[in-house]
Amino acid sequence: MALNRPLILVLLVLAATLAYFLRGDAREQQVRQSRILMGTVVEINVLDQDARRAQAAVEAAFAEMARIEELMSVQRPDSEVARLGRAEQSLAVSTETAEVLALGLEIARRSAGAFDPSLGRLKALWDLEGDAPRIPEQAAIAAALEGIGPQALRLEGLRVYKAHPELVVDLGGIAKGYAVDRAVAVLEQAGIASASVNAGGDLRLLGGRGERPWRIGIQHPREAGEVLTILELSDRAVVTSGDYERYFEQDGRRYHHIFDPRTGFPADAVQSVTLVADSAMLADALATAVFVLGPRQGLDLVGEFPGVEVLIVDAAGALHASAGMAELQR
Ligand code: ADP
Ligand code: MG
Repeated sequence: MALNRPLILVLLVLAATLAYFLRGDAREQQVRQSRILMGTVVEINVLDQDARRAQAAVEAAFAEMARIEELMSVQRPDSEVARLGRAEQSLAVSTETAEVLALGLEIARRSAGAFDPSLGRLKALWDLEGDAPRIPEQAAIAAALEGIGPQALRLEGLRVYKAHPELVVDLGGIAKGYAVDRAVAVLEQAGIASASVNAGGDLRLLGGRGERPWRIGIQHPREAGEVLTILELSDRAVVTSGDYERYFEQDGRRYHHIFDPRTGFPADAVQSVTLVADSAMLADALATAVFVLGPRQGLDLVGEFPGVEVLIVDAAGALHASAGMAELQR
């Protein structure tokens, strides 16, 4: 009988190894899908043992993002944000729009107006997504900047007050991040433990990639297809704002989609900003704010947010990083 003991042990170890590999194999099941939402390509990637559950979760996450788009996109004439733009004085909005606007206004104050959800008229004037983008007249830019800023919008409960009727609200610098956060919440509710949601550079990770962290390549702002650095992360948001995605060129200058509210022109202090935070909404707004502020003030702003890290490529191509960034880089 005593002789059987080692045999039993060996069998147990074999069974455990087999179970481990079967489970490992099952974990490898991957559902990966892309759709166009919020004016960009959204890719959702889910790892799960159960392919049907993964597929249903991905569907639900896309539906959730489409719902946020209906609520907050200025491009949708019936969205709350579009209606707010047309409102004379004020509009009562949903809890969600109020929540996103509240964070937007907080970042607007804390960045001294570098982030500005009241610059909708300026965005429409430049019309970068239009057929024939061109530099607007200086007088038109001045008019679009009139009365905008952190004080131009006020939130009282669920009611948003505009400082003047012409003010147009734009949550384009923050709503995509919120939609990504919501998509991740929906995946988690569906029982998914390992996923990534990427909305054109606004990315959030759920869990790790199986047992390991996710490896996220950050696009080089000037070398197409080249990676600036690789970050290893789990359960966090990584948002990159760059001047290389939506732009036109005229007389050798690049005119892109992140505006400096002080000048009415595209911000020119940096080429790209990568922000790491727990929430994609916070990371989205801060990335846009840092883009406008530039490296020095940008690092100061990020320093006020515990656990948030930033990597900036400045206009000359030099790198600036917060203290904790190096730990994430591989
Ligand atoms: P991306 O859309 O490439 O992820 P951002 O998150 O920086 O880039 O968002 C850019 C969008 O934010 C613009 O299309 C516009 O809607 C809005 N926006 C531009 N400049 C500002 C700004 N200074 N503050 C707030 N929102 C801005
Ligand atoms: Mg942003």
